[in-house]
Amino acid sequence: MPLIDLYSDTATKPSAEMRRFMADAAVGDEQKGEDPTVNALQEEAARLLGKEAALFLPSSTMSNAIAFAVLARPGDEVILDRTAHPAHYEGGGAGAIAGVLLRPVEGERGIFTAEQVRAAVRPDDPHFPRTALVSVENTTNQGGGAVWPILVVRSVATEARRHGLRLHLDGARLMNAVVASGTPAREYAAPFDLVTLCLSKGLGAPVGSILAGDRTLLAEARRWKQRLGGAMRQAGIIAAGGLYALRHNIDRLADDHANARRLAEGLATLPGIHVDPATVETNMVFFELEDVDPGTFLPAIVAAGVRMSSGGAGRVRAVTHLDVSAADIDRAVEVVGSVMRELRGTAAHRV
Ligand SMILES: *Cc1c(COP(=O)(O)O)cnc(C)c1O
Repeated sequence: MPLIDLYSDTATKPSAEMRRFMADAAVGDEQKGEDPTVNALQEEAARLLGKEAALFLPSSTMSNAIAFAVLARPGDEVILDRTAHPAHYEGGGAGAIAGVLLRPVEGERGIFTAEQVRAAVRPDDPHFPRTALVSVENTTNQGGGAVWPILVVRSVATEARRHGLRLHLDGARLMNAVVASGTPAREYAAPFDLVTLCLSKGLGAPVGSILAGDRTLLAEARRWKQRLGGAMRQAGIIAAGGLYALRHNIDRLADDHANARRLAEGLATLPGIHVDPATVETNMVFFELEDVDPGTFLPAIVAAGVRMSSGGAGRVRAVTHLDVSAADIDRAVEVVGSVMRELRGTAAHRV
């Protein structure tokens, strides 16, 4: 039986139709601005996000690094949640590329408040780093796929602007937040100077990210793209995957969210698993194991045909996506149940 891969929504593979659309894409020299498919993707993405322009980039890691470099100067400080992606999973790019310091705040499932922003802003004093930027992650990744309420986004943005700060939206999974909340992408994006949108996660394209904003900021971002070696040639082949994703794979994210809830509800019935299905807002399920170490559990479920990942702090993370069906979810629950019975039986026996 093929592996049921709940490791991440990065596991999605391009569908046959997406591959055909990619193969047929018109191409040109992207670095010169002459690739018609890249240009079409950038225009559609800018429209979706309600911004003047958008830039096609190889990854959201590069997109976030460029956003920080454009919106802050070396030595400046960026306020973000302590679980935020740039703080843990971008190879230190915020420091190495943008030269910024990170000022993590302790949010709730990755969501912080205007009061926390106010408390984290440094006084205007040459002793301190200068606070320059607030970065918001929506949905939150290590925060459990939580969706920022639009009113919280707006109050954080209002507070940030009161201090003259700029704003970045790490919307790697913004469309999950849009589908789950009903808040349009352009409304979520409106308070931000720059917005990252990942094409290669739940949207299902094999490669690519979007950075959107006004023309002046994007001209600077384009320079960073060139500097980092992110400018490409006949990139329309891969941009076509992103274009196809924006046209066909947004609304269906609701299926992933339903499957994640189905998984959480199934797991909640199993002995030795702690999960609160009410916390599952999008396509991620985080849960805890009783008497079993995730380091033992994860390889054991792989051997039984299901892959999940470590969610940090002793938790397990499972992510649903377009290559996972409701039947796969039911099978995954069965596998977790039988693996837990086996591992806890062994543990009890040892004691
Ligand atoms: C995955 C992710 C990124 C980076 O995307 P890559 O495609 O891995 O470069 C950035 N931010 C968040 C919140 C993510 O989940």
